Amino acid sequence: MKPRILLSYVHMSGTEKDWVNKALETEWIVPLGPNVDEFEHRLQSYLGVPRVVALSAGTAAIHLGLVALGVEAGDEVICQSFTFAASANPIKYQGATPVFVDSEPDTWNMSPEVLEKAIIDRKAKTGKYPKAIIPVYLYGMPAKIDEIMAVANKYGIPVLEDAAEALGSLYKGKFCGTFGAYGCLSFNGNKVITTSGGGALICHSDKDGDNALFLATQAREPRPYYYHEKLGYNYRLSNVSAGIGCGQMDVLQEHVDLRRRIHDFYKRELSVIEGVTVADNPSADFDSNFWLTTILIDPATGKTPEQLRQAMAEAGVETRRLWRPMHMQPIYADAPYYGGDCCERLFDIGLCLPSGSGLKDEELRYVADHILQFFGK
Ligand SMILES: *Cc1c(COP(=O)(O)O)cnc(C)c1O
Repeated sequence: MKPRILLSYVHMSGTEKDWVNKALETEWIVPLGPNVDEFEHRLQSYLGVPRVVALSAGTAAIHLGLVALGVEAGDEVICQSFTFAASANPIKYQGATPVFVDSEPDTWNMSPEVLEKAIIDRKAKTGKYPKAIIPVYLYGMPAKIDEIMAVANKYGIPVLEDAAEALGSLYKGKFCGTFGAYGCLSFNGNKVITTSGGGALICHSDKDGDNALFLATQAREPRPYYYHEKLGYNYRLSNVSAGIGCGQMDVLQEHVDLRRRIHDFYKRELSVIEGVTVADNPSADFDSNFWLTTILIDPATGKTPEQLRQAMAEAGVETRRLWRPMHMQPIYADAPYYGGDCCERLFDIGLCLPSGSGLKDEELRYVADHILQFFGK
């Protein structure tokens, strides 16, 4: 029988059930309660930040971060083009305009040079600076954060980090998501850890954390009756979902280490194929969680990622093309774009390999053997 090997599958620790049962037994199944507090505390101590606010999705975290930064209709927000649509869509939710920026080839993330050019040009064209900058840590790889923060600080523009794929990744020994004004995490089913669906906003003060919590719970003013001065959202994580998150925190570091081991395995096994490169940390400053291991296929091999994707699908293995850049998406056809063809080229020649921390050795062997076979090795 053909195996069925997925790109990134939920990997439980076993303790999730106990936390969820506790929520059910104590009737704390409403979207607040002891599991939410516990999950937030565990994330805070892992990341070494004063406040983390648990939310219903990573997309909600990005949206709430933009709201907290005061992004409104008529504003512009700079966003990495090479990403999943969820990085950019919340800009539109606010009625603001995304300005897309190309990647650099070392990390595949936002180019600091292009970022600065975009800021200068937007100021010249519109008379004002963009309201926020959203860099992304694709497939877990940290961006050139020092350079991006230096440009952002030079022009006084806050950074909202989309660290949805990068929980556990480090840049110069510091966790991704803890550098900017806010950081966003996702606990969707295919991410490093899951709450079945959920996200979080990383905050650097109690004031910011309290404000995010207020906005995420309908912006209800402290009065004995319902009273609203601000537009609120229903974005809080439920106590049941947070229970899954508490159990997942037991194995977070273990799962990150397993994904790094899977990356090492592919790097070793595929090194014999000429024209295939496994994406890697560009220097010791970068320590990716390798949420997904990705490869680039040199067109000189005569093979395309789409051909490999189809061959693997026939063998029962799910692989996935890299994110198609946002400036190439019909919905964002009118948005300004700065840069060259770096991310377009990566999209053309890249592929994501199965990387879930629950993959067994024989499954990894099976995947590697089929890739080797495809390239005639
Ligand atoms: C998964 C993901 C998100 C969105 O997270 P959800 O929890 O699915 O809403 C945002 N940005 C990136 C880069 C992602 O991979």
